Amino acid sequence: MEETITHIEYTVETAQQLLTMEEPDVQMLYKLADTTRREHMGDDVYIRGIIEFSNICANNCLYCGIRAGNGKVTRYTLSADEILEAASVMATGHQMTVVLQSGETPALGDEALGAIIRRIKKETPLAVTVSVGNRPRDTYRYWKECGMDRYFLRFETSDPGLFLRLHPGSTLQERLSCLADLQDLGVQTGSGFMIGLPGETLHILAQNILLCRELDLDMIGIGPFIPHPDTPLGEKKNTYDDNREMFFKALAVLRIFNPDAHIPATTAYDAVFPGKGRDLALQRGANIFMPNNTPACYRKDYLLYPDKPGVDDSADQCLGSAVVRIRALGRTVGKGPGHSIKGACVAPSPGKAV
Ligand code: SF4
Repeated sequence: MEETITHIEYTVETAQQLLTMEEPDVQMLYKLADTTRREHMGDDVYIRGIIEFSNICANNCLYCGIRAGNGKVTRYTLSADEILEAASVMATGHQMTVVLQSGETPALGDEALGAIIRRIKKETPLAVTVSVGNRPRDTYRYWKECGMDRYFLRFETSDPGLFLRLHPGSTLQERLSCLADLQDLGVQTGSGFMIGLPGETLHILAQNILLCRELDLDMIGIGPFIPHPDTPLGEKKNTYDDNREMFFKALAVLRIFNPDAHIPATTAYDAVFPGKGRDLALQRGANIFMPNNTPACYRKDYLLYPDKPGVDDSADQCLGSAVVRIRALGRTVGKGPGHSIKGACVAPSPGKAV
């Protein structure tokens, strides 16, 4: 079996075959993913701090806890000064990237967000990742001119019919077109998908992994589907509820198929495997950790899924725990912004980033 997985063809069929591996062979899959990560990305784990700056969204993605139709959510938008304050604290620690995330409606207008990006780049040494959904190409271009280094936009599923059912009024083609615009503009581009969505087959999961490879992404974020009670999918189960090892198998195959991409150990892994999910993810292909830096008073209002870990912790506690966990695995905390190793597309930094 080892020979099989060290001489792989990057096809849907191969991905599907790897995803169906069971013990004890699956340990070889994890070992190959970890070796691939070490050889291509090294032992550094980069820490990227997230600021969830607004939970306002016009969309109604069926799985999302902050969807427009959820009237139980208290809506908020951080002021520019609140965002800058959180980012400035970040820069004094090990977090050299700030990820600015919100719902898809421009709670802050394009120019207001552009001004915040400029301020962060001018006043801190941080790299800036933005994650605010589908936007026009000209908006992406404008934010890049403001200093945006990276953009993160998950396609969630590679199946056009399933995408349409989950995202009323939006198509997979539109999402892929946004990703193409970002790459064309030279923005470091990230995407990814959910594992175990209702209606997702093993073939679709394998296709998701292959699509990531075909898109040649700089970053790839994946995580288990976790039903939120206040959404239309609240009563549904994850396809792999009885086979949760699949969440790690998907991560391992993703790493093997995408050796040069930054892959975070997403918080959702800790939600499914409390206290150890992200550690295991880091040992099975991941190389990024993303502590929450949203001011504590807003965290409980940004629940994309229930029982999200870290909601009651301070930013210091989230960062401290990340560093301890990384070092306990024998890994090192990455210095500098941890840009794409694919090179070509690093935005000029007026700050002190290296
Ligand atoms: S997943 Fe994103 S775009 Fe969809 S409803 Fe949630 S915040 Fe809005």
